[in-house]
Amino acid sequence: MRPDLRALAGRPVIIGAGVAGLMVALRLAPEPVVLLSKGPLGTGSSSAFAQGGLAASLGDDDDPALHSADTLAAGDGLCDDAIAKRITRAAPSAIRDLVRLGVRFDRRAGGALALGLEAAHSRRRIVHAAGDGTGRELVRALVEAVRRAPSIVVLEGFEARRLLVEDGTVVGVLAAGRGGTASFETTRVVIATGGIGGLFAQSTNPNGCFGQGLALAARAGAELADLEFIQFHPTALAGHLRPAPLISEAVRGEGAVLVDETGRRFLVDEPGAELAPRDAVARAVWRRLAEGHQVFLDARRNPGARFDVRFPAIAAACRAAGFDPVTQLIPIRPAVHYHMGGVAVDAAGRGSVPGLWACGEAACTGLHGANRLASNSLIEAVVCASWVAESVSGAVASAGHRRRPPETLPLTPDASRVRNILSRGLGVLRNEAGLRSTIQALLPLACDGGPVSDPALIGLMIAVAAWRRQESRGAHWRTDFPERGAAQRSSLRLEEALAAARTLDAGCTPIARSA
Ligand SMILES: Cc1cc2nc3c(=O)[nH]c(=O)nc-3n(C[C@H](O)[C@H](O)[C@H](O)COP(=O)(O)OP(=O)(O)OC[C@H]3O[C@@H](n4cnc5c(N)ncnc54)[C@H](O)[C@@H]3O)c2cc1C
Repeated sequence: MRPDLRALAGRPVIIGAGVAGLMVALRLAPEPVVLLSKGPLGTGSSSAFAQGGLAASLGDDDDPALHSADTLAAGDGLCDDAIAKRITRAAPSAIRDLVRLGVRFDRRAGGALALGLEAAHSRRRIVHAAGDGTGRELVRALVEAVRRAPSIVVLEGFEARRLLVEDGTVVGVLAAGRGGTASFETTRVVIATGGIGGLFAQSTNPNGCFGQGLALAARAGAELADLEFIQFHPTALAGHLRPAPLISEAVRGEGAVLVDETGRRFLVDEPGAELAPRDAVARAVWRRLAEGHQVFLDARRNPGARFDVRFPAIAAACRAAGFDPVTQLIPIRPAVHYHMGGVAVDAAGRGSVPGLWACGEAACTGLHGANRLASNSLIEAVVCASWVAESVSGAVASAGHRRRPPETLPLTPDASRVRNILSRGLGVLRNEAGLRSTIQALLPLACDGGPVSDPALIGLMIAVAAWRRQESRGAHWRTDFPERGAAQRSSLRLEEALAAARTLDAGCTPIARSA
């Protein structure tokens, strides 16, 4: 039964129920909150897919300073140093909190947490669960905790479509829910809508993660940051499955190698070979595919017969797609995996528009810079959820009364029309001509006001950010600007992106902003 929405007026509204949204709701307890979940609680999130784990300096030989240094090195000169220090310092106690919330992490024989090693981490610090089932276990435990919390009203099947803004302040959320349009009056909104992989033809993200939270924030006038930095995972299972099953780096860590159809190990001369940084491996695979080759992961010798025990979920996904990883080569290709950019937030998770916060992958805290260190995103979401909750509960609560008449609910967004456009122009390797034609193709779609409008709008903002960054750094690689330029983070507002796009293209009607 649909609750009386008027009775919920004034409560903070959290949009999205992955790890970030679930944790913010739990951290706000006992303050009453509303948690909007697009699908049934626990489904449709990248969080549930996570295989590797959460990074935290828990080992005797480890220290937050080492974790922070590894994070900065991966971020290629663009991380926010203070944020990296603060998050890595808070990570160990966040893991202990998760244990208290009921997350069953894998343990060694003596009972201590088992710590895994991942590429570009200088110490073993990856806390994991059920082997490669970390995300599933994390979401299970957090969903149970949320269900037990009397302060959290969970509204399943509710999709936020617009933020309501008056005098430059958020005053509510307009959503599609069971029974039609749902309007929430509140001056405290947390965007926790995850990543943008759903905008691309090949992605490891669930389809529902297509940057909707970024569109909500951008239309409300908020600043977005570092949008051009998109991490491609080099080894997603090739084919037409959406989302593309991910074959974790840990498989290469156990000795699997990358070969082309001739059996040649084309990465063998790269420093680090198959365990080179994620962006370097993604570029090498992308180039090989662009040259007309096929690329495979060969796990037959290593991990070989141990594959099923060490990576049960990955083995099952490969077999479901028709490949036995123990006896056959696995066809792979890079796929969009993680967005370093997002809603620009301060250390408390506040966006640039009053009443707006963001947490998790939808937020850009500055932790990841130009490239995310593996397993740093879930821990960022868990740690930052506390700071967001503290800030939200300290803000003045108000029902956010609107003077204007209610807005009409925008149509159900549809990202399918932009996927090929974005995949062509915003791949692993980018250049002026590709970005220019991506912007020209997306501008009329972003302005058309129909179902494609929001996905096209975010694609357009990403393309403009990538077009403006005339250098190669981290996950952003311009074949026409292969050198590094000045180390500067980027920020973009909707009007600015549209103005830049219009310099390349004329003839677009004004775009709808939150009113
Ligand atoms: C295959 C895979 C493996 C990964 N492995 C790891 C790992 O080992 N370690 C690590 O640290 N990170 C990993 N990541 C990244 C990590 O999982 C994500 O960055 C993190 O889970 C994001 O959490 P989130 O809560 O911000 O977003 P999500 O978990 O994606 O949750 C966002 C939710 O918001 C919902 N939503 C979107 N728009 C709306 C709307 N308008 N209204 C209502 N709801 C909405 C979505 O449907 C979704 O359910 C992995 C990602 C993938 C895809």
